[in-house]
Amino acid sequence: KKCTEVIEQGKMREYEVGGLQGDNKRWVVLHMFEPFLSDADVTTFLRRYVEVKSGPFGVPDTRKVWTGKRRYEVELRRDERSPDGFSHPPATFAIGSCRGYLYYWNQPEFCRKCRRTGHGEGECQEVNCGKCGARGHSTRQCPVKECSLCGNTGHLFRQCVKRSADFNRAEH
Ligand SMILES: [Zn+2]
Ligand SMILES: [Zn+2]
Ligand SMILES: [Zn+2]
Repeated sequence: KKCTEVIEQGKMREYEVGGLQGDNKRWVVLHMFEPFLSDADVTTFLRRYVEVKSGPFGVPDTRKVWTGKRRYEVELRRDERSPDGFSHPPATFAIGSCRGYLYYWNQPEFCRKCRRTGHGEGECQEVNCGKCGARGHSTRQCPVKECSLCGNTGHLFRQCVKRSADFNRAEH
């Protein structure tokens, strides 16, 4: 028992340290509230924002029961407009009807209202919608519907061709 605890602590340290400062490598822990999504769909979603290097690895609890968490090794993409020079995935999101969140070392603050990083909802000064660019509504309230898996407009998650075939029937 002691021995496995030490190994677990070692893994946590690996996650917390994550990499050198300025390094774009991260271990991302992604938590889905519902078990219906396949690994392939979660990976497709994550690839919109970051380069996936390995994963997903299941994150079991002490009884080896699935926790809804997947761990990925990723590289953040460069973004000159971002304060830290990297583009970041959204901290909270939905894929189809399945909601989730993700976190990693040195993750910037995420605004749920405009869905940009670098500030919280309370300090949000954004007047332009982050999705369609219009003034007068927040990104969260945008009437333009887009596919939550691939991000394109014109179809929704259910019709997405990038969806994996082994999606759980519970969605229908
Ligand atoms: Zn904001
Ligand atoms: Zn909009
Ligand atoms: Zn799609």
